[in-house]
Amino acid sequence: MRKKVIAGNWKMNKVLAEATQFVADTKDKVPGADKVESVVCAPFPYLSELVQKSAGTDLEIAAQNMHYEESGAFTGEVSPAMLKDIGVSYVVLGHSERREYFAETDETVNKKAHAAFKHGLTPIICVGETLEQRESNQTMDLVADQVKKALAGLTEDQVKETILAYEPIWAIGTGKTATSEQANEVCTHIRIVVAEAVSTDAAQAVRIQYGGSVKPANVDELLAQSDIDGALVGGASLEADSFLKLVEAGA
Ligand code: PEP
Repeated sequence: MRKKVIAGNWKMNKVLAEATQFVADTKDKVPGADKVESVVCAPFPYLSELVQKSAGTDLEIAAQNMHYEESGAFTGEVSPAMLKDIGVSYVVLGHSERREYFAETDETVNKKAHAAFKHGLTPIICVGETLEQRESNQTMDLVADQVKKALAGLTEDQVKETILAYEPIWAIGTGKTATSEQANEVCTHIRIVVAEAVSTDAAQAVRIQYGGSVKPANVDELLAQSDIDGALVGGASLEADSFLKLVEAGA
């Protein structure tokens, strides 16, 4: 039985007072980590403080991106060692907004996945198709290709620890959720791809989230699907009450 993981992706939202208030309002109310993993993906400037403020609770703090290099002349970038050093435990890689606006590619996502494991960070790797790709029946091939490229060269144990997030781009921030059948169909396909590319054990262990306009009203139905092991949630993760409802649904 795979433990569900619910991650709230704040994107570029909140000032420090709002971020710390959110953690104060949620850290002692999230279900136990034995029932569900509750993760908040916060902007870089707040990570250190939020890690300290949530220490000793079941609320985990994640970064929304990182560079793959250890250190050096990469102005404006943040390294995996820096994230590990301040106590971050998860990192989102290859979010569609980073692929679209910041030149993230399958190759950089793969380098980042390797770098994450080298530093003991759990990667949440996003894949998903545009509306145009879905309408021209490319979804399954495209997502398979993204998954294989993202996981290339990782060990079986690392793949088992990886979290994949299937996020159809047409459903992100649009209010248009994939139906639970549509979402599960692709998540099942991803599990088959992992079985073929890595092993059946890895495919059974890897957790696959769905992301795209998930909210308290639709989360139960999505999480009830056979191959959906959690959710990556943008808009509906910004308010403490709503985030708590989402993590409770995963427990
Ligand atoms: C996301 O940020 O990954 C996301 C799925 O956003 P939203 O829930 O707002 O669609």
